[in-house]
Amino acid sequence: MREYKIAAIPGDGIGPEVIAAGLEVLAALAVRDGGFTLQVEHFPWSSDYYLQHGRYIPDGGLDRLRAFDAIFFGAVGSRSVPDHVSLWELRLAITQGFDQYANVRPARVLPGVKSPLAKGADIDWVIVRENSEGEYAGHGGRAHRGLPIETGTETAVFTRAGVERIHRFAFALARKRPRKRLTLVTKSNALRFGMVMWDEIFFEVARDYPDVGTDRELVDAVTARMVGQPQTLDVLVATNLHADILSDLAAALSGSLGIAPTANLDPERRFPSMFEPIHGSAFDIAGKGIANPIATFWTAVLMLEHLGEPAAAERLMGAIEAVTGAGVLTPDLGGVARTAQVTRAVCEQIGR
Ligand code: ATP
Repeated sequence: MREYKIAAIPGDGIGPEVIAAGLEVLAALAVRDGGFTLQVEHFPWSSDYYLQHGRYIPDGGLDRLRAFDAIFFGAVGSRSVPDHVSLWELRLAITQGFDQYANVRPARVLPGVKSPLAKGADIDWVIVRENSEGEYAGHGGRAHRGLPIETGTETAVFTRAGVERIHRFAFALARKRPRKRLTLVTKSNALRFGMVMWDEIFFEVARDYPDVGTDRELVDAVTARMVGQPQTLDVLVATNLHADILSDLAAALSGSLGIAPTANLDPERRFPSMFEPIHGSAFDIAGKGIANPIATFWTAVLMLEHLGEPAAAERLMGAIEAVTGAGVLTPDLGGVARTAQVTRAVCEQIGR
């Protein structure tokens, strides 16, 4: 029997609702498969925990997480804590602490889901986001606070090692997909140092992947291409900030933020990788029982693939598609189903 240790960090807002739903579906899969079990430990790290204890992650917290095979993360963000504090002290503390440098964000219009785009059916993308440096490297500062000369700097950091490893990851991923296409997203017309290096290293790495077709697009132009010619894109590699924005656009074009999954990977497997829905805490709908759990289920698919359970991953993706295709949809997708109904429908489908 294969046994996986999963650290669940539900976090804030709808995080606990969707993670509970995700764990239910994973438990159904383990029963159906019979070949693996999941040992889940919950960590209460959240904004409420922060307000009580003065920190999101207690001393030695990362060391405890290190022993797990994967981290299943809900959301972080609260009205009572500034966003830059909650994000840096919980989510980024883990992604950076465990050098999860490859953030993978697939986007596709699932059966039964309506895209705002007429050409929505053509969306089949994976956005690869550099997840460890760039604009979110945490370099910058504030000086002369409160004075007219107050200054704030935010320095984007690009290193050869960091850029090369994400481009290699993106090429290897593109090579595994049928269309084998990789688009370099850049802004090297205006940002002439780090971004020019970003482009140069991409084309150096490209020599090792002659079977992958490449092109280069400015980040502003690629937004128009995503809307107007979605069929021309396959895998996109972009910096931390650019990919952050592009993947929300991709999620919206795929129907809703409530379906978009993501994996924060340490491809070298020195540390556990972290899997989470793209959406945040969505306080407007928290506690109402209507959060769309599909993003978390699709996230679980990515986690199962990473753990080396491709059959279970495929079964779960099939169950998700059967349920959306049958019109069991939450209100964000124009349906009337509640979180629990979608979860039950997916579990039933898994059992078939
Ligand atoms: P945060 O500050 O944590 O990022 P947020 O509320 O600003 O939270 P999101 O959580 O990403 O941002 O949500 C944006 C909007 O998308 C929400 O107001 C919500 O209505 C909708 N939304 C996000 N996720 C879901 C979901 N799983 N199901 C249904 N609607 C969702």
